[in-house]
Amino acid sequence: MAITLLINGAKGRMGQALLGAAREMALPVGAAIDAGDDLAAALATSDVVVDFSAPSATRAVLEAAVARQKPVVLGTTGHSAEEKKALLALAGRVPCVWAGNFSVGVNLLFALTRHAASVLGSDYDAEVVEMHHRFKKDAPSGTAARLLEIILEERKLDARALRHGREGLTGERTSTEVGIHALRGGDVVGDHTVMFAALGERLELTHKASDRGIFARGALRAAQWVVGKQPGVYDMQDVLGLK
Ligand code: NAD
Repeated sequence: MAITLLINGAKGRMGQALLGAAREMALPVGAAIDAGDDLAAALATSDVVVDFSAPSATRAVLEAAVARQKPVVLGTTGHSAEEKKALLALAGRVPCVWAGNFSVGVNLLFALTRHAASVLGSDYDAEVVEMHHRFKKDAPSGTAARLLEIILEERKLDARALRHGREGLTGERTSTEVGIHALRGGDVVGDHTVMFAALGERLELTHKASDRGIFARGALRAAQWVVGKQPGVYDMQDVLGLK
């Protein structure tokens, strides 16, 4: 179905990647706007809002979409837990795909990790390794945190099971711990490996991002999917049929 996009935050790194992906995917862009532009007017000529801008813009984006009953794809991150709770209530009044990572590969990695963790019991030691560029300010990455959450859920463990790196006389590894290791260096966009190691074999699931176009293409896939859906908040697992 041909849909007309409204790209909000169009001058930013993701905005530019989205415009490139829209060209690649032959999706018409009705409006490409940034801070200071007229969001309500731009909405009138578009079928779906794709927002990768700033967390301070999210409320206005959702209010405008609700007022005109237009679907939303929300990629902006950085909201506090409290902000997010209030925004989710608003987002649920239109069809809205909200995801902290729109990469199709990473979302498949989430599903594969859940499957592997359920098939491979506690005899398989689970460890997560991530690497990002030298400028990244937080660790572990949000994506690694989600991978760990999935493993903990499948193993019925809580955050006390996590081991952030190891140093000194740690003793033998127990079957109820899950390791997480954050490497930093150079210009690495984002690598994640989930490892399940037993006596005699090891399974490794790895995703490597090298271009933010993956997030843009995933978001536009979500935009095509969300038009015509019932109001509610969806994520990329819904878009990809991985639930
Ligand atoms: P950026 O700083 O390069 O671009 C942000 C753009 O938004 C800028 O052009 C800025 O002028 C504009 N902007 C700021 N306030 C605005 C407003 N009120 N209305 C409209 N536009 C406004 O940032 P970026 O790297 O493009 O990232 C944008 C957001 O997307 C961030 O929150 C980032 O974390 C998130 N992101 C999400 C994913 C994902 O997969 N969900 C992937 C990459 C980035």
